[in-house]
Amino acid sequence: MADKNDTMEKLVSLSKRRGFVFPGSEIYGGLANSWDLGPLGAQLSKNLKDDWWKTFVETRQDMVGIDGSIIMNPKVWEASGHVATFHDPLVEDVKTHKRYRADHLLEEALGIEAGGMSLEELGKIIKEKGVKSPDGNELTAPKNFSGMFQTTIGPIQEEGNVVYLRPETAQAIFVNFKNVLETSRKRLPFGIAQIGKAFRNEITPGNFIFRVLEFEQMEVEYFVEEDEWKPIFEEWAIFMEAWAKKIGLDLEKVSRLEVTGKELAHYSKRTIDFEFDFPFGRKELWGLAYRTNHDLSAHMEHSKQSLEYVDPNDQSRKIVPHVIEPSLGVGRTMLALMLSAYTEEEVGDDSRVVMKFPYHLAPYKIAVLPLSKKDELVEPSQKIVDELTNHWNVEFDVTQSIGKRYRRQDEIGTPFCVTVDFDTLEDGAVTVRDRDTMEQERIKIEELVKYFESKLN
Ligand code: ATP
Repeated sequence: MADKNDTMEKLVSLSKRRGFVFPGSEIYGGLANSWDLGPLGAQLSKNLKDDWWKTFVETRQDMVGIDGSIIMNPKVWEASGHVATFHDPLVEDVKTHKRYRADHLLEEALGIEAGGMSLEELGKIIKEKGVKSPDGNELTAPKNFSGMFQTTIGPIQEEGNVVYLRPETAQAIFVNFKNVLETSRKRLPFGIAQIGKAFRNEITPGNFIFRVLEFEQMEVEYFVEEDEWKPIFEEWAIFMEAWAKKIGLDLEKVSRLEVTGKELAHYSKRTIDFEFDFPFGRKELWGLAYRTNHDLSAHMEHSKQSLEYVDPNDQSRKIVPHVIEPSLGVGRTMLALMLSAYTEEEVGDDSRVVMKFPYHLAPYKIAVLPLSKKDELVEPSQKIVDELTNHWNVEFDVTQSIGKRYRRQDEIGTPFCVTVDFDTLEDGAVTVRDRDTMEQERIKIEELVKYFESKLN
């Protein structure tokens, strides 16, 4: 266990030290559980989202994307059921006033499955079994705690102006279903994808960027005929696992959990959680849910608009499509990716830390490192940078010993380092060092682009 916690500590520290993730609002003492992405984190997250978009949208003829608003008409959240049901059971330690999810506490204290239990059930078990807070104190009776952030539109806070920050991106897809159908002219089965921010007032955020209040989701709503959902659901499960492999997640740590019983949302006939073995336990990484036609039907009822699909082969046949939803969190994926990439290696008497990101996700692909700060090396190095940046994201690093610079590039996962030395001035060649093997080869400057094309593209 000590080792595992150690891994998280090391990762948090590396993230800060190298510029992946910074504590939010740090100069004001921070804001609990808020994190900002630094230069490397922003690039890594962008690379991840770009790859998702390419894989889930651009390479599939049955997919299109949208980018919806964060603030929507509040009626959306009434129709979706969030206003009535998007809350978690909260209990409070009567002495410390720390708050906990009642179902999570019971699961930890008694090893029972408590997700989906009513407030009464939870309260009864807490009383009967004498469940205490982790600090050993009495707990208040469970009450509902809304997970939705509220704000108001306009200068005056009035009841009628209340709006919500969306707790999931999915609803923007459902409310635009008709618009997309008409403009994209897609036929079933087809899907609509979206990447965007979502906000949840979590009772127990934590574990670095695993559970936060503000996060990004990458979601697909894939519309199908009711009788074809089963094989398509399975295809999506396989598709998601293939993406896990493509982005370099440690597949031994990824597993499927069939969600059953009360954990299963009332409208869902099947849900799989893809879990990842994080250092703090096996937890949900992504979800895949068959949501029936619950959402479209609810929006039809509340908006009084038709969201039906007319069968192109039989115009008299109108249906409300069913939907399969692959839902992925960007931050959680990034955390799993960083944990999978994090490697400590012995090198002779020394050791090194390497982030073994797949090349296409690494924030920088190449670092150009002149051996000395002298102009005679910096100038030709700059020329190399100018050429390579036409093709890839390149870092130019001039200061510190070459050993320290290699170490830094290993820690940020740069696949290749190009070292410009005094021999370069004679032979027009540079040393290329491979991140993973640490092998070095001499390559002519004019062949560098071709060389990296064969390695990186
Ligand atoms: P959990 O059970 O961990 O709270 P959930 O079942 O509520 O997750 P979903 O509603 O299925 O999560 O959201 C889809 C995805 O969005 C999750 O699989 C996860 O990757 C991400 N996600 C959800 N909540 C958060 C959060 N608070 N912080 C970061 N990512 C989140």
